[in-house]
Amino acid sequence: MCGIVGYIGHRNAVDVILKGLKRLEYRGYDSAGVAISNGKLTIQKCKGKVSQLEKLIKANYPHGTMGIGHTRWATHGEPNDVNAHPHQAGDYKFAIVHNGIIENYDALKKELIQKGHFFEGETDTEVLAHLIQEVKKVGLTDFETAVQMALNQVDGTYGLAILNLDEPDKLIVARKGSPLLLGIGDNEVFVASDASPIIEYTKKVVYLDDDEMAIITPDGYQVKTISNIELSKEVHELEMNIEQIEKGGFPHFMLKEIHEQAQTISDCMRGRLMVDENRIVLGGISDVLDRIVNAKRLVIAACGTSWHAGMVGEYMFEHMAKLPVEVEYASEFRYRDPLIGPDDVLLVISQSGETADTLAALREAKAKGALVIGICNVVGSTIARETDAGVYTHAGPEIGVASTKAFTAQVTVLAMMAILLGQKRGTLTKECSRDIIKELNTIPAKVAQILEKLDDVDTISRLFAYASNFLYLGRSYNFPVALEGALKLKEISYIHAEGYPAAEMKHGPIALIDEHMPVVVIAVNDHTNEKMISNIEEVRARKGRLIAITNEDNHDVRRLAEFSITVPQTHDSLSPLLTVIPLQLLSYQIAVYRKCNVDQPRNLAKSVTVE
Ligand code: GLU
Repeated sequence: MCGIVGYIGHRNAVDVILKGLKRLEYRGYDSAGVAISNGKLTIQKCKGKVSQLEKLIKANYPHGTMGIGHTRWATHGEPNDVNAHPHQAGDYKFAIVHNGIIENYDALKKELIQKGHFFEGETDTEVLAHLIQEVKKVGLTDFETAVQMALNQVDGTYGLAILNLDEPDKLIVARKGSPLLLGIGDNEVFVASDASPIIEYTKKVVYLDDDEMAIITPDGYQVKTISNIELSKEVHELEMNIEQIEKGGFPHFMLKEIHEQAQTISDCMRGRLMVDENRIVLGGISDVLDRIVNAKRLVIAACGTSWHAGMVGEYMFEHMAKLPVEVEYASEFRYRDPLIGPDDVLLVISQSGETADTLAALREAKAKGALVIGICNVVGSTIARETDAGVYTHAGPEIGVASTKAFTAQVTVLAMMAILLGQKRGTLTKECSRDIIKELNTIPAKVAQILEKLDDVDTISRLFAYASNFLYLGRSYNFPVALEGALKLKEISYIHAEGYPAAEMKHGPIALIDEHMPVVVIAVNDHTNEKMISNIEEVRARKGRLIAITNEDNHDVRRLAEFSITVPQTHDSLSPLLTVIPLQLLSYQIAVYRKCNVDQPRNLAKSVTVE
């Protein structure tokens, strides 16, 4: 969750850090802080936004060329000024920022209190600070060794950065479970939780892996394991650029990202969809393709929106490749002692590639001998590195907390995988695969068409902005879209919403329908359309306010619904790529009318790196 920025070099550290923390704001946080070292340690921190911290800093500007900064998403102790990071221990000689959770903090804290330590706040991070101090005092050891010894005593996860007054030219960082990378410049080194704070300075990065630490000075760095084995790490070249993470004239990142989808879907297919040859090329999984083709079962594990993409994938794989699929919440899968083995393939899906539960599911399946493949957006992320093989979505940085373009890119990758498997397993005829491939190639233009006419969405959003509930109904490929539509609305507008398979409505939710209930039905021209029409009639009979996502020529649905938003016709399996777009826009517009913080909704984090 949230973020860390560190700097050591020749610039004013606090400027680099504040700018970096702003770039990390999208990850979600509740407080922020910095520590600058210049012969003394100046710490400034507060509950609230980075802009509030900036005001504090303006009033008392700390000059210095090394420092650390943090955005906190509270896990232990309420969000307040005291619990904000950086933290210190008794002698105030060093400052630490930490993302993650020290799981055995309670036992450690009790021991430390017995030894005379006094705690100012309630965080687990402060316990780690005191532990380092205690180890150093008792072991009479150097600071770096004390950090290593302390980390060997903690259970849990951390990305951390430490400044120490006794060694004023050194920055120590470490990682287990929370992402951290180094940006290598000329006589300067940057540290951050992801690349966005550092790309304007350097494109050279070193990704830390779990159980690794780095000792950084202005002119270099040394990476080693927590158990002190020196490592030589590969330096990667970043592919993103600064424009990709700016708003590009849109009022919110989410709207920008919704509008990018024609482009991102086509980026995702570039070099992979060979329309003329009726062929799909997915280089990232080519080495393991035979194992996937011959698998007995495919298990898909993911969380949130990625889980919905996984459900669309289930319909695709079963239909096109006749491969049995199970879609799992990663959090349930990992703790269930799941039955998975060498004949199975686990497919994990995560935008950030850092989702803690998905990563744990991956490790669980790998340990049991399954082949593990992934679909991720962030290049070089932990999941991308730990899977046996995988496919990047190439959607570019997604900053809005509510996922949009990552979802459509994930579904695009799943469609390509399903077609490829269908071809290899001989379950998809040449004609069928040619039809779907051709149709997939037209999706970007159709998405652009939807994005051109947004008036209907605006009228509907204005009318229902103050509804207290929404129901979303769909069948087949559009059932996961109903779930995703409801999730988007909850996430950013805080309206309670439920997604349901349309037929299930009569087993419960129908009791909620009256003249105040907006019901969004996804009823396009597909094999379920007649059934959807019956469900629409059931809603109408109870005076529900029907909003239909349908096709221009679907006169039955358009006649029955109070409002209709139309999308172009496509192949059944690809329809989620189109029907989800108006639902993303609907939640966006409603959130704007309700004056909600669209890009950083309350309580949510972009990259969920805690369980
Ligand atoms: N567990 C720490 C806290 O609650 C760090 C949370 C974070 O990742 O920001 O302060």
